[in-house]
Amino acid sequence: MSERKTITPAHRYRNNDRLIGIGNTFWNTSYEHGVAGIVGDLEDGVFHTPDGHEFVNFTVCSYLDLDTHPKVIDGAVASLRRFGVLDHCIPRTRVQTPVLLELEESLGELFGAMVISAISTAAASTGLLPVIASGHLGNGTRPLMVFDKNAHVSMANAKPSCADETEVVSCGHHDLDFLKDMCRTYERVCYVVDGSDSLGGYAPVHELAELQEKYNLLVFYDDSHSLSAYGERGIGYVRSHSPVLDERTITVATLSKGFGAGGTAILLDGYPEQTRRLIERFAGPLGYSQKMNAAAVGAALASAEIHRTEELTLLQGRLRSNIALFDSLVATEQSDSTYPIRVVPMTDETVIDAAKQVFAAGFYTSPVFFPIVARGTAGLRVMLRAGQSEEQIRRLCAALVRAGARPAAAAPAPGIGGEHLAATTGEGAPDGHA
Ligand SMILES: *Cc1c(COP(=O)(O)O)cnc(C)c1O
Repeated sequence: MSERKTITPAHRYRNNDRLIGIGNTFWNTSYEHGVAGIVGDLEDGVFHTPDGHEFVNFTVCSYLDLDTHPKVIDGAVASLRRFGVLDHCIPRTRVQTPVLLELEESLGELFGAMVISAISTAAASTGLLPVIASGHLGNGTRPLMVFDKNAHVSMANAKPSCADETEVVSCGHHDLDFLKDMCRTYERVCYVVDGSDSLGGYAPVHELAELQEKYNLLVFYDDSHSLSAYGERGIGYVRSHSPVLDERTITVATLSKGFGAGGTAILLDGYPEQTRRLIERFAGPLGYSQKMNAAAVGAALASAEIHRTEELTLLQGRLRSNIALFDSLVATEQSDSTYPIRVVPMTDETVIDAAKQVFAAGFYTSPVFFPIVARGTAGLRVMLRAGQSEEQIRRLCAALVRAGARPAAAAPAPGIGGEHLAATTGEGAPDGHA
């Protein structure tokens, strides 16, 4: 018998025992109750499952419904034909077709920044953060990397690789006092944070800009939830709030949510052109993995064209009024925010059953509950979109209230508008068997 070694993990930045232990309980419960693992065909905005159930998905992040826009679909098809190859598999630094250059020029003009594309935000953050940590992207000084405790997993996952290049710490959500302390202590600091949070809320862009001016703070924003849905030409929350537009601000934003295509945009200001080469060569997957493919680029080019027209303003306006309609019917903590995501409060005990009831009524909303969220914060996640009809939203809200959601204070009292809601739930329901 050999004396072989058992490994004791450091678990300084990640812990799969905990992650999988906690996460799998959540997923198994969701799966067993039929509110995860759903498969269906999508036709005209309605899902059809093999067993004949029909539902509208109220948990999809395509806030302007550009992902199913005919021009975006046509753009994807035409681009593949035009460039003749989905992905010419060689690092773009060696040989490339003009496909990405065309996209980056278009997005650069649209957002007023130097744009570098990547296949996903996850790949971009995985690649960029260690290059920032080593001081190669920035002013050359190795910064202390401060990760907001709520930073999206695509950023938090880069902690171990950043920690091999510099020091890494986590801070409380939007803890400006901590950041100021760190700025006074360290030569340089980089704060890694979501521009717009997955559960509602925005980064304090203005306050951060003050710290940037005063201490040269570098801020890495992920504004994935706001691109397209927010701001002039869909420029997103961060860039609508006067961030410092130079080497001290780096923003990534997915093109797969509001933008309705695929891939991601890295937005840079005040960097010299050779920074582009550095990123393409050394930002992890950007240097060694696949790029945005021609179909995704074609979809993105078409979406960018829509962003240049009145149609974008119109879609943003519809999104706002759908959000307002929802808020007038169901009470949530996010009420009255411009943010398109709502969490309808339930308890850990009721949330699965509520999701099932709402699903039976013809709407998918995703339940979140302990242990993936803190006790007392369970609920159904709802995403509003421009393309949802008033009737769909009214029927969803009626189903939510029947399942235990609190009606908004301004909501019609049962027996007046309530009767109307009840009447509409039976008729023309996408599920047809409510
Ligand atoms: C959705 C999301 C991502 C993932 O984007 P991909 O481009 O699909 O990798 C990353 N960050 C945030 C904040 C997101 O909400």
